[in-house]
Amino acid sequence: MMNSKIKLLIIVALMLLALGIATIINVSLNFREYSLKSAIEKATTTATIVKDGLTAHMVNGIMDKRQYFLEQISSNNTEIKSLWLVRSQNVNKQFGPGFVSETIRDAMDKNVLQSGIMTKQIKEDTNQITLRVSIPYKATAIGTPNCLSCHNVKRGDTLGVISMEFDITNMRNTGLLTILKILGINLIFIIIVLFLINHYVTPYLKLFSNMQEGIQKAYKGDFTHHFTTTVEGDAKNIVQQLNTLFQKMQETFGNIKYNLATFIPQGGIASHDPLNEAKIIIKELSDIYKFKKTIELDLSKESIYKRLINVFQKKFNLKHFAIYEVNEKGRKLIYITSGSTICNEEVQDNPMLCRAYRTKADVISTEFTQLCQACSSHDIEYICIPFDINDEYSLIISITTKDKNQLVAINRHIPSIKNYLEAAKPVIESRILTDKLRESSLKDAMTGLYNRRFLEEFIDTFMKQAKRNSETYTILMIDVDFFKNVNDTYGHDAGDQIIVAIGKVLRESIRESDLAIRYGGEEFLVLLHNATHKGALTVAQKIHQTFASLLFDVGDGEVIQKTISIGMSQYPKDGDTIWKCIKFADKALYVAKTTGRNKIVEYAKEMSENEDLR
Ligand code: GH3
Ligand code: MG
Ligand code: MG
Repeated sequence: MMNSKIKLLIIVALMLLALGIATIINVSLNFREYSLKSAIEKATTTATIVKDGLTAHMVNGIMDKRQYFLEQISSNNTEIKSLWLVRSQNVNKQFGPGFVSETIRDAMDKNVLQSGIMTKQIKEDTNQITLRVSIPYKATAIGTPNCLSCHNVKRGDTLGVISMEFDITNMRNTGLLTILKILGINLIFIIIVLFLINHYVTPYLKLFSNMQEGIQKAYKGDFTHHFTTTVEGDAKNIVQQLNTLFQKMQETFGNIKYNLATFIPQGGIASHDPLNEAKIIIKELSDIYKFKKTIELDLSKESIYKRLINVFQKKFNLKHFAIYEVNEKGRKLIYITSGSTICNEEVQDNPMLCRAYRTKADVISTEFTQLCQACSSHDIEYICIPFDINDEYSLIISITTKDKNQLVAINRHIPSIKNYLEAAKPVIESRILTDKLRESSLKDAMTGLYNRRFLEEFIDTFMKQAKRNSETYTILMIDVDFFKNVNDTYGHDAGDQIIVAIGKVLRESIRESDLAIRYGGEEFLVLLHNATHKGALTVAQKIHQTFASLLFDVGDGEVIQKTISIGMSQYPKDGDTIWKCIKFADKALYVAKTTGRNKIVEYAKEMSENEDLR
């Protein structure tokens, strides 16, 4: 603001100065012309006086006294440096040569004598300006006596030349003085104008700079500026209106900011501009609202995780991250962008090794060397965020990068990432509950194995998949021998104990891709996935032997042992559907039961053909 004032003053000063210089140039040119003109006029007048004087001398017969007259003229006039006469040849011829001083002194004398034309010349050096004038003295026939009465010449002939040198230095000095005066007046004028401008413009400039300051603050969201001015009238009104407007803005934005802050933690929004802040928060709220609305319609926990992954990649532009789900059973990798986990293998079974999970606080690798001791990578930076879904389930979001600077950028997203997790939390929680309910309806509570309903619901899916991928299943139908006896002799609890034990034996004998199902009361079905014949037999034998070796405490210090019979069939070798094969396994079991029990019997075609074996 102050700059523009100085600019304005400089412009005005320059304009006035230019005007002054133009005036000076104009005046000095005119002055020079005027000085010359008046000097020439003086020379002409002097020449006329000389001419008339000489004529008078001639008429009075005192022509020989002319020198005195000429000297008087030049000595009475300080400006005339010298004055001399030059006689023409005609006059010399008629009256004889004049004084020595009356001969040609320079080229101008000679030229004027010849041409009869008045000539002037200015000689200028640093000290002096001289006007050199030569005026011809011509013969006239006017008056009595006239030139022609005495001179032997024609009218208009040049009788002589009057030459003079005028010192016009004074004129120049006067001119310079005038210019200086003009300059002085001009300067005084400039100073007055500048002073007046300064006096009247400064309050406006101050108002402008005050307004600019206020607007700049407002730009940053600070509406607390108070506008002031010393200018009366409209300016004062504007200032008052601005103050009212700013007051309203400050109140409104303060409220908006306060209200919005209650919706969302603002850690991620680093801004000093409440307006911008409000915009960011509203955008974030709207994004999260949309996200929440979307995931509420997602059916499974897995699809919600997928949405989160999507948000992490698209919104936060995370390049490398992993999501782990932790519950009492251990830590499970849900998703990883690429490569393998940076955590030690042991974390999987012992989640307490995970620092983020254990401390329930964000773990940022740059905070301390080897901060998480379960991290197996040394050249990778990480931020691990723990997030509890409910008492049982937690998520760990592990974001990794090789670039330390990148970590700062990622860190800035954490509050926002947590907002998304917070939004997803109740929905994930509800899906976990649904999953649990569903699982419990498909599982047998006593043994923890799948129930018959599960088999009925999923067997078609398994078979389709098996057909498509040419997979095989070996089916084991298992039944406890003389189980009724246990119930009858030792009570139902003793029977239950045996059922629980067989569930455990089955779970521990099969692989993850195999299925163990409580098919009926003390009847179990095992589906071995892609097992070789030999492998399947080995599993069956293992189950058979393990169970037979178990000791059951049936009370009163009495311990009993039980055996099982197993019927075995193969899909698709024995039948084109799994159901058929289950029936064949049952047939094989029947054969085992009828041929002595406590044995493994493989299905053979004859079993279906031989009525005795049915
Ligand atoms: P077999 O060798 O021919 O199989 O003789 P079994 O006595 O085992 O005969 P079966 O398999 O038909 O016996 C089934 C019995 O299992 C009938 C039922 O009382 C008993 N049972 C079924 N479910 C349960 C259960 O959940 N708990 C207990 N304690 N007994 C059960
Ligand atoms: Mg039985
Ligand atoms: Mg039975």
